[in-house]
Amino acid sequence: MSIAYLNGQLLAIEEAKVPALDRGFLFGDGVYEVIPVYAGRLFRFKQHIARLENSLRGIRLPMEQTLQDWANICHQLIEQNSLNNASIYLQITRGAYPERNHDFPANPNPTIFAMITALPEVQAVPSDKDLQGISVITAEDIRWQRCDIKAITLLANCMLKQQALECGANDTILVRGGVAFEATSSNLFIVRDGVIITPPLSEHLLPGITRDFLLWLAEQHGILTEQRLIPEHELLQADEIWLTSSTKEIRPVTRLNDVTIGDGTAGPVWRQMYDHYQQLKVQLYRGEIDSNTEGEIAL
Ligand code: PLP
Repeated sequence: MSIAYLNGQLLAIEEAKVPALDRGFLFGDGVYEVIPVYAGRLFRFKQHIARLENSLRGIRLPMEQTLQDWANICHQLIEQNSLNNASIYLQITRGAYPERNHDFPANPNPTIFAMITALPEVQAVPSDKDLQGISVITAEDIRWQRCDIKAITLLANCMLKQQALECGANDTILVRGGVAFEATSSNLFIVRDGVIITPPLSEHLLPGITRDFLLWLAEQHGILTEQRLIPEHELLQADEIWLTSSTKEIRPVTRLNDVTIGDGTAGPVWRQMYDHYQQLKVQLYRGEIDSNTEGEIAL
């Protein structure tokens, strides 16, 4: 049975209940983070909390918690659930009030909820399934204009993901005005002539922590990167396409709208980055690197 955190209490996840008048439930009025844990350590924790603080500022919900307060919640979940390799879901809503009213409450009493889910162990060698990659479609991005805020309001993301599943694909790359920005729960990268390309940060995409980490990791290994807009038509000219996120890491896309990308399996640059990513995790497990590494921080 999984132990969750709710407003200062640790309790069985089935017992974690919030009032029906919570603004998260009524309006989707809240933000969240998903933080990976490797070897019992919070990976890139400072960056995740900086993004959380940006999201909170974005929805104008001031919170007093320090980095250490957030770390304490996460560490309690790691210990209580005896999970060393996991992802922590941390959600903050504007809280519950006596009436359903669009206006922001004058004195917010936010709801803080967190839970933990096991992640697979480090995989030094990619599985056949990894190498096979995933299949995606493209669709017009129907989300709002502040996709840089990690808001819990994910109905459009769910609909766009479902659209992919109903087409027999795994995910959807989201396009606005002919430009591809990201996927329903991951950032977008392409590779052309050995250069790793990803769209620049804007209000049309989430500033992915994995995106940032990959740009850093590529730089460490002398692989060229470029941040620029990717027209939808350029996707089909790419040597490789990847989707990235904290829990999925780097996923190669091998089919786009039923057209094969590259040779239909994960490409050589993906393989290089996969190895670098896993090596860094192995170093973390062995305790060879810790908070001094730009790529992660242990609290
Ligand atoms: N873009 C969207 C829309 C997401 O939901 C996510 C993760 O959930 C990402 C990108 C990737 O972000 P991160 O690498 O921080 O997990």
